[in-house]
Amino acid sequence: MSMTLNSVFQTQRAAFNAEPNSDWNSRKANLKKLGEAIKTHEADFQKAISEDFGNRAYEETTLAETMVIQGGISHALKHTPKWMRTRRAPTAMQFKPGSNKVVPQPLGVIGIISPWNYPLQLAIMPLIGALGAGNRVMIKPSEYTPKLSQLLKDVLGKIFSDDEVYVAVGGVDVAQEFSSLPFDHLLFTGSTNVGRIVAQAAAKNLTPVTLELGGKSPTIIDESADMATSVARIANGKLLNAGQTCVAPDYVLMPSAKIDAFSEAMIKQAETFYPKVAGNDDYTSIVADSHYARLQGLLEDAENKGATLRTAGDDDKQQLAKERRIPLTVVTNTTPDMKIMQEEIFGPLLPVVASETLDDALDYVQKRERPLALYWFGKDKKKENKVLNESISGGVSINDVAWHVIQEDIPFGGVGPSGMGAYHGEDGFNTFSHLKGVFTQSRFSQGKQLHPPYGPKTHKMLNLMKKII
Ligand code: NAD
Repeated sequence: MSMTLNSVFQTQRAAFNAEPNSDWNSRKANLKKLGEAIKTHEADFQKAISEDFGNRAYEETTLAETMVIQGGISHALKHTPKWMRTRRAPTAMQFKPGSNKVVPQPLGVIGIISPWNYPLQLAIMPLIGALGAGNRVMIKPSEYTPKLSQLLKDVLGKIFSDDEVYVAVGGVDVAQEFSSLPFDHLLFTGSTNVGRIVAQAAAKNLTPVTLELGGKSPTIIDESADMATSVARIANGKLLNAGQTCVAPDYVLMPSAKIDAFSEAMIKQAETFYPKVAGNDDYTSIVADSHYARLQGLLEDAENKGATLRTAGDDDKQQLAKERRIPLTVVTNTTPDMKIMQEEIFGPLLPVVASETLDDALDYVQKRERPLALYWFGKDKKKENKVLNESISGGVSINDVAWHVIQEDIPFGGVGPSGMGAYHGEDGFNTFSHLKGVFTQSRFSQGKQLHPPYGPKTHKMLNLMKKII
């Protein structure tokens, strides 16, 4: 291990030990200057991310990154003083007049490993929780967005000293070294495969992890759904960032009689959003050639195995390839042996699976890995409740996609292969805090009746306790 990352870690630890429970004023100052720096550099962030992607609509960076961050910061500024307070806890009768409480305290040094798809938001949102909870933080952003990662290092380096917040840029070698540090908590956002490797590295230090992973998030469209609204919302969620979103609707489950009309409507909707895809600043490029080739491979494999492809627009294919842009492609007549039905898509391709009843749809979902998100479109409340009760996913949006992620008042996280643990808002604060249970004994405690040597007094006391338990 190079001395640098380890020595940054040791410096942060020493600084933490010198001030193990920073007060609200200093946490508030950290959150405020973070918010101001993000605001001051918004245009620089938009430009860096766009250059890293080839093209990323500036509006998408505002909507899905800087605005989400500012929302997170104002929520934290408003509520952290309450979260920091000692929490009252009940005390069972047999232990009274002793009393219980829960004392939140900072953990120490937090590690954050972030992916390329929302490279600013996914580095800063955990940082907000970690700073609000009074920790020191090291961040390892993705090597796929080198300009953004360097800019993040420069901007955070100006407002924080290395022993407060440190950004480690570099490739997989740096990431491996980073994940071997004995952090007090490590939050990883990225793929399920790398998540497994990171969890193993952390286990060597018994470092607790929060894993924010991916997977195939299903969208169930019920007969009771309003088709035009569903189509517009699904298209918007699928095409934001050209589908490179962890909670993008991965595939659709719906009755076969409606599939053709739905597919045509999706294509029309995409063409309304983006009359041209090539050269359109509103339409984001695929981040790298390897991902572009992977997505083309998924389409080829599906077509070879009998799927029907419908593609939006009539752009010049060569030009599209040069720009790494892929128009919305709806894939029907899908079968489970197609790769597009097996791996997370992470691009603007939308396969549709015929599923005649809600039971069929739920059965399909239950038999597969638990997804990060699940979407249900419909008006039938009974069915909506059935979906909520009988499916397990990290989170859910009803009659829309993805919006649950940016709610600061509910936890965001996966379950099983889509992740473990959660953050955002109070859940973020709790994730990066130690919630210490404290029992205070009363001077009137009868506990000494339980001390040895055991005899009639002990038995009397035990009988009394048994009665009140
Ligand atoms: P990735 O797993 O390839 O990389 C994520 C990070 O891990 C990068 O910073 C990378 O440098 C680091 N890394 C790579 N190899 C490593 C190793 N051996 N040890 C330690 N760290 C290593 O993911 P990605 O391609 O950047 O992101 C896409 C994936 O992330 C998708 O699966 C998506 O669903 C998921 N994702 C999840 C969320 C969420 O909040 N749950 C959000 C965005 C993306």
